[in-house]
Amino acid sequence: MTRDPRYDILFEPVQLGPVTARNRFFQVPHCNGMGYARPTAHAEMRGVKAEGGWSVVCTEEVEFHWSSDTAPYVEGHLSDDADIPMHARLVDRVHAHGALAGCELVYSGMTAANLEVRQPPMGPVALPVVGTHPVHSRAMTLDDIADLRRWHRLGVERAIAAGYDVVYVYAGHGLTVLQHFLSRRYNTRTDEYGGSVENRTRLLREVLEDTIEVAAGRVAVACRLCVDELIGEAGLQRAEIEEIFGIIGEIPDVWDLMVGDWDFDSLTSRFGPEGTQEEYVRGLKALTTKPVIGVGRFTSPDTMVRMIQDGVLDMIGAARPSIADPFLPKKIEEGRWQDIRECIGCNMCVTGDYTMTSIRCTQNPSMGEEWRRGWHPERIRPRGSDAKVLVVGAGPAGLEAAMSLGRRGYEVMLAEATNELGGRVALEARLPGLAAWIRVVDYRLGQLERLPNVEIARGSTVTADEILGYEFDHVAVATGCHWRTDGLGRATLQPVPLDDGLQIATPDTILRGELPAGERVVIYDDDHYYLGGVIAELFAAAGRKVTLVTPEARVSAWTENTMEQHRVHVRLAEAGVDIVLSQVLTSAGSGAVELACAYTGRPMTLPADALVLLTARLPDDELATTLRAAEGGPTVRALGDALAPGTIAAAVWDGHRYAEELDDPAVANNDHAPFKREVVALADE
Ligand code: ADP
Ligand code: SF4
Repeated sequence: MTRDPRYDILFEPVQLGPVTARNRFFQVPHCNGMGYARPTAHAEMRGVKAEGGWSVVCTEEVEFHWSSDTAPYVEGHLSDDADIPMHARLVDRVHAHGALAGCELVYSGMTAANLEVRQPPMGPVALPVVGTHPVHSRAMTLDDIADLRRWHRLGVERAIAAGYDVVYVYAGHGLTVLQHFLSRRYNTRTDEYGGSVENRTRLLREVLEDTIEVAAGRVAVACRLCVDELIGEAGLQRAEIEEIFGIIGEIPDVWDLMVGDWDFDSLTSRFGPEGTQEEYVRGLKALTTKPVIGVGRFTSPDTMVRMIQDGVLDMIGAARPSIADPFLPKKIEEGRWQDIRECIGCNMCVTGDYTMTSIRCTQNPSMGEEWRRGWHPERIRPRGSDAKVLVVGAGPAGLEAAMSLGRRGYEVMLAEATNELGGRVALEARLPGLAAWIRVVDYRLGQLERLPNVEIARGSTVTADEILGYEFDHVAVATGCHWRTDGLGRATLQPVPLDDGLQIATPDTILRGELPAGERVVIYDDDHYYLGGVIAELFAAAGRKVTLVTPEARVSAWTENTMEQHRVHVRLAEAGVDIVLSQVLTSAGSGAVELACAYTGRPMTLPADALVLLTARLPDDELATTLRAAEGGPTVRALGDALAPGTIAAAVWDGHRYAEELDDPAVANNDHAPFKREVVALADE
């Protein structure tokens, strides 16, 4: 296929100072939980993006001096020449596919608690560090500022030695000392580095000038800048940014503009659409002759073209769209935009950074597995036999398994009990704020349509007897799970007395459209991810009086890892939902739910007409158990939620794993890990 001429503009080269980007697709720096700890896995992941057509592929934030320490987070290190080889490996992987490699140097200052190095972090002023660590920054002296400038120059030299083509000066996300100096939010100094915009811009200007001087035309210098801190006059906003552009607008070779802190820069689809940042970035390009990059969870080539044609941006910046589909540029280039695996905006990728583990993605199960398991987002090895495979259940696990087995060339039958494909995703995407999640289903159905070797049977509840009557060699049971109705969950680990006088609902009944009657609805959320909050929104929108009770100290506590927790709280509070924290369900009966304080055990009663339970889930694995018991039958494997209830991302990943590993003798022996590990090299004693 050939490219649609409408999209030609996206494939024009862009001059970035001394280097040329081959097109307008720019993978902006993003965290990945691999960093210095899993460097080859990281290098391979970036290399796959270069292969997919991104003209510039960047690292995550890379600390250039030991005195700024984001531990326990796993970011990049380039504070010593010993760090150079791992970066050189990443650069090689990116260069191998004709892309430029960019390095985002960072000095975290007051956003790092320096837990590992133990000496106090530095900032413009003395302040408690971000978070709850009992640590304060100390105010930098003029000598400290001179040190910082020298360290940054050394960092730039090391980045150039590693082979990078683009080096960042980073003043974004509230995460760097350069932004801390720039913003009145933090900087209350009274010397030449504080007060006026000119004074607050001084350090950023000096570091930019230093970087240009050290770069000496060998690499492009990018500046990532927060253009609105979203706190009104208390922080950076348009008027000041225009003044700042007047001072430094022409210094870097390219601008990478972002808005707010990371949680707004990577806003989830639950809280904002594609292109949310446009209103803040529009017009800034007129203030500089240098190219401007911006993000917006762009997955639509038409939106990308509009950004360029309207003069908002010169390059399409992307982190999440490049994670969900590393081959997004190639697909547009080859006229295959229908094949784009669109980001759903769930921020499962962000949880890797927050939990200090390798990045994963709901849409792209190969993310983070490129090196250690050899998975690739577009390629999969051919089938290992002529076996026929039955996949039961067309939720995310079954759809991914059937699609990937089909790509390998197996003859596959996908049987789904209902007439709708998509399992929990098809149902959950109807809940408030989750519409974009249907892309998990849409992408896979679009691909399955093109696989003649995969047959889909809808409205087909298959039983063990039927299956044994057919000649399948392998059966993958992706039949999902169900929510418990007895109150057993993390907080109690045993059933809770519930009498018939009170209507009991679970997400299963609600997703089937069976909303309990009555005015007062109590939602008991011992699950802690998104569903409790979303169901509370659903009932609030239906005009009910909703109380959300959780044993945790925060509502939807795990969404801290997707950077949504505070937004969930605000949205529920604004919808009139009463939030009751740190309370454990003890019993429920006619007209009331009984709770106990999670700390003291002190009882509390809530009047209720209905109770929605989000406690534990149980796998629907009876089919797998029955089939396994049959002698001489096919091999049987439960997949996804039927193996162990988890996230949609985990179900997709497990479906993919099954397809990758079928007929692979290397994984038969589970005494050894089915993936490569990079072991820390021992130092000389
Ligand atoms: P997962 O998240 O693991 O993919 P889901 O709950 O989303 O699980 O999907 C499970 C799917 O399996 C649902 O669409 C359900 O209708 C289907 N299913 C369950 N039991 C059977 C069965 N015996 N035959 C065919 N389909 C089934
Ligand atoms: Fe997008 Fe979710 Fe994948 Fe992140 S995990 S890239 S938000 S689909």
